[in-house]
Amino acid sequence: MMETKRLYDEDSYIKEFDATVISSEKEGKYFKTVLDKTAFFPEAGGQPCDNGTINGLEVKDVQIKDGIIYHFLEKGLENGQKINGVINFERRFSFMQNHSGEHIVSGVINSLYGFQNVGFHLNEEVATLDFDGILDRNDLDKIENVANRKIWENNKVIAYYPTKEELKNLKFRQKKEIDGNIRIVNILNTDICACCAPHVKNTGEIGLIKLLSFEKMRGGTRIYMKCGNLALADYQNKLLNITEIQNLLSSKAEDTAKAVNLLYEKLNEQKQKNINLNKRLMEFMVGNASADENLFLVSDFEMKDLQMFSDMLYKKHKATKTVLSKKDNNTYLFAICGEDTDAKKVFLKLKENLDVNGGGRNGMLSGIINADYKEIKGVI
Ligand SMILES: [Zn+2]
Repeated sequence: MMETKRLYDEDSYIKEFDATVISSEKEGKYFKTVLDKTAFFPEAGGQPCDNGTINGLEVKDVQIKDGIIYHFLEKGLENGQKINGVINFERRFSFMQNHSGEHIVSGVINSLYGFQNVGFHLNEEVATLDFDGILDRNDLDKIENVANRKIWENNKVIAYYPTKEELKNLKFRQKKEIDGNIRIVNILNTDICACCAPHVKNTGEIGLIKLLSFEKMRGGTRIYMKCGNLALADYQNKLLNITEIQNLLSSKAEDTAKAVNLLYEKLNEQKQKNINLNKRLMEFMVGNASADENLFLVSDFEMKDLQMFSDMLYKKHKATKTVLSKKDNNTYLFAICGEDTDAKKVFLKLKENLDVNGGGRNGMLSGIINADYKEIKGVI
């Protein structure tokens, strides 16, 4: 079979095209359909395939093998049938913005640091770029500034197939050895790289390059990036969030981090006050506790407070004390404090008779009981 003519190679802005069906064969769930020419970009080079329709049928997948492009459709088409294809161009244009943005960033990093791009992934949310060298946030800021300047210069982007002779004298970035004809994407004044994907015509169309975050990866760096429409959507979303935070804190947008820090300080002060109040409450309760009582019930105590309370009771009365904190009608936190063997005895009695999870040592045992209060009291 002849290689499919790639309309997107010559013009990445084709949104609609006419073509002829070469073959349409059922394979699994779908009909694997080959056309004489297509504007659908297949899944390749870390980029998902285009979405859209062929004769109104949704294109489920587009794959390329040995230069032949396969469109996966829910219905079969007749050989020789004329078809009309429509690309979901909004999605495609986002891919073009982000893929061209990737070339700029990779070119800038290559010229500033000498690192190679060793991986690229793009989807509807974000682009990830992998480099074989270590970069930090300061580097990213510098790269981002230079890359955006390349957008403002509105440089031409030229994609073409050079002759073997031209290729010999051309210096370009290449991710791996490519068989067959090498397609070159030349972003003037910026970067030259071998690539099969559709690109914007002028760098100004990318709009914005934003490097969001990075992480170390196998001795190199992975960068998360959004360009064009993705960067704008990200800004809109962040503005919405920051405005809400700003209103909640009654602060200026540029002071939100400071205001949240202040809030945390206040929260910690409040926590300390609560701890002190709890301690005083426990001292009061211990003062009022009868020496004969071995089981106490409180509510809303955290485990740490429960342990402290049982310890205070034991120290006052020199007898093993069990304290329960109610979580709900059939769930209680417990802490048993006493002389080691005594405390263990109480714990084992509970464990033999009820559904108990927990343990401990040195006269302090704690955990959770799944039973109601009457049942627990019956055992103790
Ligand atoms: Zn590329």
